[in-house]
Amino acid sequence: MNTASRDIKIVVVGAGFAGLAAAASLFQAGFQNVLILEANERIGGRVFTTKPFTENIIELGANWIHGQDGNPLYQLAKEQDLLDESTAASKIMCLPHCVTPCDYFFMEGGKQLSPDSVDQVCSLFSKLTSKAFESELKEEHRALSLGEYLDVSFAETPSGTSEDGLKIFEWCKRSECTDEAASSLYEVSASQIGYYIALEGGFFNSLGSRGYQAILDALLRALPSGIILGNTEVKRVQWNPQGIEGNGPNRAVQVICETDEIIDADHVIVTVSLGVLKKQARTMFEPALPKSKLDAIERLGFGTVDKIFLYFSERFWPEDCAGIQLLWDKGPEDKDVYSSQDEEDTWKETWYKKICGFDTVARHPTVLCGWITGREALHMETLQDSEIVDTCVRSFTGWSVPDVTQVLISRWGHDPHVLGSYTFVPHWVNGVKEHEALAAPLPFCSQDPKIKVLFAGEATHENFYTTTHGAYLSGVREAKRLINYYSD
Ligand SMILES: Cc1cc2nc3c(=O)[nH]c(=O)nc-3n(C[C@H](O)[C@H](O)[C@H](O)COP(=O)(O)OP(=O)(O)OC[C@H]3O[C@@H](n4cnc5c(N)ncnc54)[C@H](O)[C@@H]3O)c2cc1C
Repeated sequence: MNTASRDIKIVVVGAGFAGLAAAASLFQAGFQNVLILEANERIGGRVFTTKPFTENIIELGANWIHGQDGNPLYQLAKEQDLLDESTAASKIMCLPHCVTPCDYFFMEGGKQLSPDSVDQVCSLFSKLTSKAFESELKEEHRALSLGEYLDVSFAETPSGTSEDGLKIFEWCKRSECTDEAASSLYEVSASQIGYYIALEGGFFNSLGSRGYQAILDALLRALPSGIILGNTEVKRVQWNPQGIEGNGPNRAVQVICETDEIIDADHVIVTVSLGVLKKQARTMFEPALPKSKLDAIERLGFGTVDKIFLYFSERFWPEDCAGIQLLWDKGPEDKDVYSSQDEEDTWKETWYKKICGFDTVARHPTVLCGWITGREALHMETLQDSEIVDTCVRSFTGWSVPDVTQVLISRWGHDPHVLGSYTFVPHWVNGVKEHEALAAPLPFCSQDPKIKVLFAGEATHENFYTTTHGAYLSGVREAKRLINYYSD
C-alpha cells in the first residue's frame, strides 16, 4: 500500500463479525481512516452474550464454533485460551446426528421412546442428509426439496412404515430446520446444500465462561478506540453522487445516517444482514442496486430461529437427562400436515408443535432452552412471554413441572437490525450464483473501475453461510479486495 492510501476513508456498516473482521484487517494493513457505523448500542449483531439470570452467560444468538480446521475463530479462541472443553461446558443442542441415550424422547400422551428406536431412525436420517451435504444425491433426487428427498428415501426403508419411526423422522426434519433456518425442509434445496462446507473438528466447539463476547472483545482490542459509532443507523448509501449537493470534494460515496448526518467515504463495506437487505435494499442505495444483486437478495432465503430459555425454580428432569424432545402424532414436518397447513393459517394455533424440544444449558442447572424455527417462530415472537411460558410448560413427560421464575426469549425475526436469523438456499435457487451476486462489489461496469461499495456478511459466503466464521471470513475477503486494489 502506498503512503497516500493511508488516508483512504472506509466506512463499514455494521459491527457484527463481518464488520469487525473487515475493519481489523484494514487496520492491520495500514489503513488508518476506517469508521464503523452500528445501528445498535451494542456491537456483535447476531452474537449476543447476556447474563439475564445469574452471573453466568446465556447466548441469545450464536453459541458454538462450528469446526476447527481452517476456522479462524476457533484458531483465535484457541490462541487466546477462550475455549472450554470441559463436560460442564459441552452442552449441545439435540440434533439427529448427535442424539445420545441422555436425550429423552416423549410422544404425545407421555410415552417415552427407547433410545434404540430413536437412534435407529436418527442414524438413518443422518446418513440421508450426509448424502445431500456431500453432493452424493442420485440424479432423480437432485431436483427435489430436501424434505421431499428425505421422505422418498425414508419410505424405502423398513422404518419408513413404522408409526413410531415416522414420528421420530418428523422430529428429525423439524430439528434439521434449526440448522437450515428454514420454515420447513420442503422449502430447502436438496442439491444446493452440498455447497455448504462443514469444517472438520466438530460442530459444537464450546467457548469458556465469557462466551462469544470474549471473541468480540479480542477483535475490539485489534481496533483503535473510538472507531465504532454506536446508535448510528445508516439510511442510505449514495455511491455515484456526482452533482449531489454537499458531496465531499474527493470522496466517491456518501453515507447518510437516520439523523441525516452525511459521512463522505472513498469506499463503504455493507455488512447488514440479508434480512435487512430484503426489507431495505430498494431504498438504501442510490443509484439502485443492479438487478442481479436485487434478484440474489430476493432469491436467497433468510429464516428465523429463536431460543426460549426457561429458568425453573428447581431441576425436575433426571440428572443424566440432556434434554426433552417432543414427538407429535402429526407434527408440522409431516408432509400431509405441511401441505394442508400451507394453504391456511391453522398452524398458528399449534405454533408450539414446531419446538423440537428443550435442551439443558451449560452452567445453568435449572434452565432449559427450547428451539423454534420458521413462520411458527415469527408467530411466537408476537406473543407475550407469559403466554409462551404457559404453552411450553404444558408438558407431556408426566413429570410435575415446578414454576418458571424467569424467562428469556429471542425475537430475531422482529429485531429491526437483523430481521431473521441466518441464510438458506431455497428449492430451485442456484446458491453459488446468488451468493456470488450478493458479494459482488459496485459498480459492476468496466467504464468505472473504481470499487465503491463492497458487501460482506454471512449471507455472502458461498460455503460458510449461516456461521460466525463465514461472517468473519467475508469481512476479511472484502478488506483484502481493497488492500489489493491499493497495492502498488
Ligand atoms: C439464534 C442464532 C443462533 C446461532 N448459532 C450459531 C452458532 O452456534 N454458530 C455459528 O457459527 N453461527 C451461529 N449463528 C449465526 C451467526 O450468529 C451469524 O452468521 C453471524 O453472527 C452473522 O454476522 P454478520 O456480521 O454477517 O451479521 P450481523 O451479526 O447481523 O451484523 C450486522 C450488523 O449490522 C448492524 N446493522 C443492521 N442494519 C444497519 C444499518 N442500517 N446501519 C448500521 N448498522 C446496521 C446490525 O445491528 C448488526 O450489528 C446463530 C444465529 C442466531 C440468530
